Amino acid sequence: MAKDFCTEYDFRISDVISWIKKNGFRRVLLQLPEGFMRCFDLISERITEVLDVEIVVSANPSFGPCLVDEISARLLNADAIVHFGHLEYPRYRPTIPTLFVPTEWKYMERNWLEEELSRIAGSGKKVVVVTVAQHVSAVREVCKRLGLEFRGVMLGCYIPIDKSFEGTLAVVAGGDFHCVSAYLYSATANMDVVCIDPYSMTSKSGADVGEKVLRTRVWKVVECLNAKKWLIVDGLLGQNRELIVAEIVRLVKERKGVAHRVNALRIDENYLRNLGAENFDCIVITACPRIAVDDLKKFERPVLTPGEAIMVLRGSIERYVYPW
Ligand code: SF4
Repeated sequence: MAKDFCTEYDFRISDVISWIKKNGFRRVLLQLPEGFMRCFDLISERITEVLDVEIVVSANPSFGPCLVDEISARLLNADAIVHFGHLEYPRYRPTIPTLFVPTEWKYMERNWLEEELSRIAGSGKKVVVVTVAQHVSAVREVCKRLGLEFRGVMLGCYIPIDKSFEGTLAVVAGGDFHCVSAYLYSATANMDVVCIDPYSMTSKSGADVGEKVLRTRVWKVVECLNAKKWLIVDGLLGQNRELIVAEIVRLVKERKGVAHRVNALRIDENYLRNLGAENFDCIVITACPRIAVDDLKKFERPVLTPGEAIMVLRGSIERYVYPW
């Protein structure tokens, strides 16, 4: 069963082999997001059948292209990293040679997608389209056929569209994760969001998925309005956000509050409890905005995204900010 799943995606093994060969790498670290982790043996075997190279595999978090595992690569003396499942993060470039492989899904129903996008474009509003790494070639091709503007790949914290855009943002991605990000981002803009799921072959409005999430976010913001003691949890690699942390610390001090900062590669409820979360009035996760939105929404202390923390600390709560 696992192997069937893996054959649905294009790991571009021949490109990986050519890249390793061309650069003469001897030890290469493979990194896969959780969902693709089960394919690591298949990929490793296909590479080593052809090349005399040593493959090591990272099991550290690979939630996004912000987490290219340079730490393991250095400790394990790997010459290079092959990072599957994402394209390069716009806000961070690894310092070790890294090949990003989008791991595209092979079974997109392009005619169905064309019909969906035509229907959305038929509303008369300007439409721009974004997707995720798994569908980038298929969506680009369908947009070209229809003459629609394709803006490329979005991430949970990055939407390649200016907030001044007026019209419809069409998000092609499986599940609700990217739909929620797009909706939160659009909350104070003049755009509506339509989410198209190519796996279930269904479409829905971003508001259907995101409105409840937005209400929860506003409630969390309100809970932090009078906070004095703040815990800032920052990340490592591309989730290390010194400027944002510095700004939050500065704003807390300006309000005569106290801010403590810690850094981690993996952040969850147990990690916060071990840090004595009950000693803080408000917690901000600067590493990744989706940790507060998805994983810690029911945590016993209010947990904010960086944008929400800055809203509270600057006293500008009338305009919701996502993500920073
Ligand atoms: S910071 Fe979070 S949402 Fe942004 S790319 Fe990384 S994992 Fe994804």
